[in-house]
Amino acid sequence: MGTWYRYYNRWQALLRKSGFSGEFGHFPIFDNEIICHCGKKGCLETEASGLAIHRTILERIAKGESSILTEHVKDLSKLTLTDIIKATNMEDPLCIEIVEEVGNKLGKYIAGLINILIRSWW
Ligand SMILES: [Zn+2]
Repeated sequence: MGTWYRYYNRWQALLRKSGFSGEFGHFPIFDNEIICHCGKKGCLETEASGLAIHRTILERIAKGESSILTEHVKDLSKLTLTDIIKATNMEDPLCIEIVEEVGNKLGKYIAGLINILIRSWW
């Protein structure tokens, strides 16, 4: 296996050791009124997840922003992440913007986690 796989396994072991495995997505870090599937408000997952991308794109299209998704997906209530990824790969500006925003939020959070946990890494 490659280097990244070893890092991934090491990261997973560290998360298990820290007792936080599976809980990071539900840290309440955003001051929003979005209810997470866990029942709390402001979890990381409310703004930095596939669900967040999906919800935000539908909200922005409903507000009148244009996207090729309205042409490629006949029923937007059945919009999937696969549709969004395809539109992003087709350089749809709205999808690119939202995926980038979510990626930035997730990246900042992961960087913070690494800074906190790095001492346990070695
Ligand atoms: Zn949650």
